[in-house]
Amino acid sequence: MNIGITSTIPIEVVYAAGHTPCDLNNLFISAPDPDHFIQIAEDAGFPRTTCAWIKGIYGVMRDVDIDTIIIVSGGDCSNSIALGEILKDDGKRVIPFSYPLEPDVSEMEQAISRLAGELGVEPDKITTCKQQLDPIRVQLGKLDQLTWQKMLVTGTENQLYLVSSSDFNGNPELFSTELDNFLKKAKTRQPLKRKIRLGLAGVPPILSNLYPTLDRLDAAVVFNEVPRQFALPWAPECTLAEQYSRYTYPYQVEQRLNDIDRACRQRQLDGIIHYTQSFCFRQIENILFKRKLSIPTLTLEADQPGPIDGRTLTRIETFIEMLLN
Ligand code: SF4
Repeated sequence: MNIGITSTIPIEVVYAAGHTPCDLNNLFISAPDPDHFIQIAEDAGFPRTTCAWIKGIYGVMRDVDIDTIIIVSGGDCSNSIALGEILKDDGKRVIPFSYPLEPDVSEMEQAISRLAGELGVEPDKITTCKQQLDPIRVQLGKLDQLTWQKMLVTGTENQLYLVSSSDFNGNPELFSTELDNFLKKAKTRQPLKRKIRLGLAGVPPILSNLYPTLDRLDAAVVFNEVPRQFALPWAPECTLAEQYSRYTYPYQVEQRLNDIDRACRQRQLDGIIHYTQSFCFRQIENILFKRKLSIPTLTLEADQPGPIDGRTLTRIETFIEMLLN
């Protein structure tokens, strides 16, 4: 059975239960016409001032043949809770998954075991599944290294592979084969030469041409903060509960800022673009990004899927120009 997910969750449990996780964000944004899903949500009564990702997920759930969804009810997005209530009323099966308030391994064990109980799967099957997925996460870590250490992988490719690790595109074996082939090819490339090294922090941008635009301006994205977190490349070093306790995204912004700060130094970043989604509560966290990060930071905001508008483009150009001088 396909099970919709709205965010990174312990997919090892879903696969171990014999189901296929399906990241609804990816289905929404990779569709030829993502606006179609937003329209479905607005027709159903979602306010215009609701985050487009939430509306997109709702539209996908209404449009495709998926009857069950795992909603992250703690540690992700308060809008998801209301989304789950609407979907339940629409007749979908809604399974909650809640990250602990603070990273805590024993509380994470309990959260994982509640999810396993909902899906009726035994712990040993989950462990076997983790052992199968861990090597793919290691390969994703290598892809990330080829991005920032060797400049052999573009920011777009890095983002695409790391974001897809939220569900391994529903087929880990195929994903793994494609990733291995990609890595082999990437190693034969000539290193990219770009004057500026950037980090991209925040939720995945809804903009369709951000990476090519930065590339055209001689800036390489060598750190995709949240996608790298989705990939959990540290998995083999720990238990499943530890693996998801080290995932920074569900917790306080301080942990994310420490991770970003480390990346700034290690990856020798010249600047950070902090992407925020219109109507997202995480926009408030931008105050702390501005206060705490010690390198130049540009905040970008977008609402709907589509290309960068003229005003945003000017802000990006000015930022890159400032870094170049
Ligand atoms: S962008 Fe913000 S409001 Fe929208 S789904 Fe993500 S966390 Fe929730």
